Amino acid sequence: MRLALERGFFFPSAEIYPSAPGGFWEYGHLGVLLKNKYIQAWLREFVRRDEMVLIDGSQILPKDVFVASGHLESFADPVAVCQKCGSMVRVDRLLEEVTGQRVPERTPVQEIEGMIRSLEVKCPVCGGHLGGVSLFNMMFKVHIGGAGEEAYLRPETCQSIFIDFPRLHKISRRKLPLAFAQLGKSFRNEIAPRQSLVRLREFYQAEVEVFFNPATANQFEKAFEIRDYPLRISDEGSLRTLRCEEAVSQGILSSWLVAYYLSLAQRFYLSLGVPSEKLRLRRLEDDEKAFYAIEAWDLEVDTSIGWMELVACNNRGSYDLSGHAKVSGTDLDVRENDGRITPHVFELSMGVDRSLLALMDLSFGMEGERAVLRLHPALAPYSLAVFPLVDRPDLVAKARDVFERLRLDFDVFYDESGSIGRRYRRQDEIGTPFCATIDYQTLKDDTLTLRERDTMKQTRVAVDSLKNVLSEKLLL
Ligand SMILES: [Zn+2]
Repeated sequence: MRLALERGFFFPSAEIYPSAPGGFWEYGHLGVLLKNKYIQAWLREFVRRDEMVLIDGSQILPKDVFVASGHLESFADPVAVCQKCGSMVRVDRLLEEVTGQRVPERTPVQEIEGMIRSLEVKCPVCGGHLGGVSLFNMMFKVHIGGAGEEAYLRPETCQSIFIDFPRLHKISRRKLPLAFAQLGKSFRNEIAPRQSLVRLREFYQAEVEVFFNPATANQFEKAFEIRDYPLRISDEGSLRTLRCEEAVSQGILSSWLVAYYLSLAQRFYLSLGVPSEKLRLRRLEDDEKAFYAIEAWDLEVDTSIGWMELVACNNRGSYDLSGHAKVSGTDLDVRENDGRITPHVFELSMGVDRSLLALMDLSFGMEGERAVLRLHPALAPYSLAVFPLVDRPDLVAKARDVFERLRLDFDVFYDESGSIGRRYRRQDEIGTPFCATIDYQTLKDDTLTLRERDTMKQTRVAVDSLKNVLSEKLLL
């Protein structure tokens, strides 16, 4: 967190105002570069690899959308207001802290109220008495135009994909299964935002919604290539590695289609440098699934603050299209070979902000005095730093020349201030994988020293070949 704040990866919004609410964070320059690279990797490993169709929908949507989606009724957390200080407390979380036991997602309000009374749980802020428990809807309500028509900031990006489905499907001129992808912001009025980028009120999601015919979810040609891919499955408390084929044939996964998309998600994080022993696909219990899910897997990564959910993988069945068809009165069915069906949806809903936090957390380490962020080179905010060995006019001129040749094609940082050792350290700390130093030999033979962050190994590279060498090293 100190690194993030001091070097400006991310920091709290409106921090000069003491009244600023929690749960809103800004990305600084390094954070934006990191996020953009993460998105590039996502586009490569999901959208291009699977030939997905992109969309970018509105963040404000009319009330009816959330009547149909069920969010108006069911997207709520149990809360109680302190009778003494007036704080609103999310009581399921509070009970979990007090008892050390999980309080399932949809525990009835009366039951929670009973637990608070019998355990004599008090306000965590002031120790005051907690009032009755009610459900607090987590959507931000907004009012549109002069008439103040009721609308909401979307709590998940995917609703646009569902309501646009008939048009998107028609434009694509493709048959099911068909995957749509969207990157964008979502908004949740969390009672207790926490741990910086883990639980935000405004956040980025990268979502994939796969529409499929449930009757043919096992006739899925693409799955052939992942038959032997080892999935790290955590089910009923035990973690094991199962080949996709085993997971499907043993009925642990509902279909080949699900196996294929889970393998895409797992492969994505492994390719970004998450060690496989720190990743698991955890099956959610019935009482912790989202209200629309019939099968749910969380891709989780083990960080310094515990297992963190990075991707929610939900089989939403026909819940969404049926709901929107009913409320909007529009036919959302699809004609498949010999009849009409309401497609089912399998989703990979990725939290972008918390993925970045997890990747930074897993990459960061102290090696003696040296702080190093061992990000995958493809993710590092700066791909290269260019230095003159010392501040001497001919070396500076040559270093500027090398920098100029690269800076439009790569994120390159130029630095000539301070000792060379200090300049290396400052790059190590923000994850720059390579530093190119222009020294006296450069002036003689046009080669430079390329120093690698992780090994600190130095090699001589011809200035002319630097672009190619770098391009190769930055591949995912
Ligand atoms: Zn209180």
